Amino acid sequence: MRDLTVLVNAGPWLPVPPRGYGGIENVIATLVPELRARGVRVLLAGVASSRLSAEEHVTVFDDGMFGHIQSPYNRTMGIPHAHLQGVLRRLGRGGVDLVHDHMEVTGLATLNAAGGAVPPVLHTLHWDLRKHPHFYGSFQGNGRVFVNGVSESQLRRAPRALRAHSVGHVHLATPLAVDADRRPAPAKGEHVVLLGRITEVKGVHVAARVCRRLGIPLILAGPVNGIETEEELGAALDDPAHPRHDAPDVRYYAEQVRPHVDGDLVRWIGTVEGEERDTLLATARAALFPILWAEPGGTAVVEALSCGAPVVGFARGCLPELVHHGRTGLLCEDEEEFTELLRRVDEIDPAECRKEAALRFTPGTMAERYIELYDRVLSRAARA
Ligand code: UDP
Repeated sequence: MRDLTVLVNAGPWLPVPPRGYGGIENVIATLVPELRARGVRVLLAGVASSRLSAEEHVTVFDDGMFGHIQSPYNRTMGIPHAHLQGVLRRLGRGGVDLVHDHMEVTGLATLNAAGGAVPPVLHTLHWDLRKHPHFYGSFQGNGRVFVNGVSESQLRRAPRALRAHSVGHVHLATPLAVDADRRPAPAKGEHVVLLGRITEVKGVHVAARVCRRLGIPLILAGPVNGIETEEELGAALDDPAHPRHDAPDVRYYAEQVRPHVDGDLVRWIGTVEGEERDTLLATARAALFPILWAEPGGTAVVEALSCGAPVVGFARGCLPELVHHGRTGLLCEDEEEFTELLRRVDEIDPAECRKEAALRFTPGTMAERYIELYDRVLSRAARA
């Protein structure tokens, strides 16, 4: 048990837990109950509609402001600024030992600038660090602000200035990993699955092309920039006035994925959620990740293993950390090898995948690791 009061800053964009989409808010919803179960007192800084229980809620906005992200008010950083002012006001009243911040650049910059006026800070790097290279590349901490990655590989690639403030990495966890090794395993179907945003870096076209060539049924599950069906997509492409007419993912799907979509062999089903998603993974012969970027955290990889779907993918980013080649999946370097591996998917025992997930990716494991990092932050800040 840990005698510690932590303000977890979820930011102003979505409630915690989120009602649908919301990777970061999902992580927070998974983490906070586990921290509290270990004696940590948690103040949640988020929007008032958050239903997650905490010792105290710190709020400025009533509901998630994600829909206002394009508004003129937000373009001047009005929304994150107002939220962070509320957080700073609460921190000024005292009683908080540490801030665990999950707001991108604005959170890190504001808390760092506040210096000694706020408790020590652990900022989790959820994002693709290439998004703000100047900020991260020239980051100068004040001796009380530290960061953690969501994989070792993410930190290895981080700019040196940021890495100097790192206290380590924490792999993402999923509630699906709890007792994953004890749940009955459903029978496997014929299909393999690709679960994720339909976007180029996820290599969706590679999976579609290879599966079609091999005659392996592939189900593509995920949104195309918020679009869920072929009809909606067609409407966006046909109408130059449609807000997503020129959206890169819409173009990508139409030009690079759709040519491989083929009846029941390769099909796109839009976003799947809840039990439908879990069953799709559990009955899949494999989950495919032919990723073309350095995947920072790979939630969907961890979910696939938890459901007993062997992972077949490219050995990039966090994948080699999450997947044991030959035991919980098969990793390779290029499309040619990927084609070979897809013929061998049945060599991997789904029970091994679930066992590994139950050991490494549970919410409890994640919370314990975070508590370790909180201690590191507090002792490094005390030395500064
Ligand atoms: N996801 C989902 N339904 C879909 C597609 C994706 O619930 O149809 C979820 C998936 O389960 C995972 C998240 O979206 O929790 C994707 O996270 P990941 O870290 O894998 O990729 P990101 O989109 O953050 O790069």
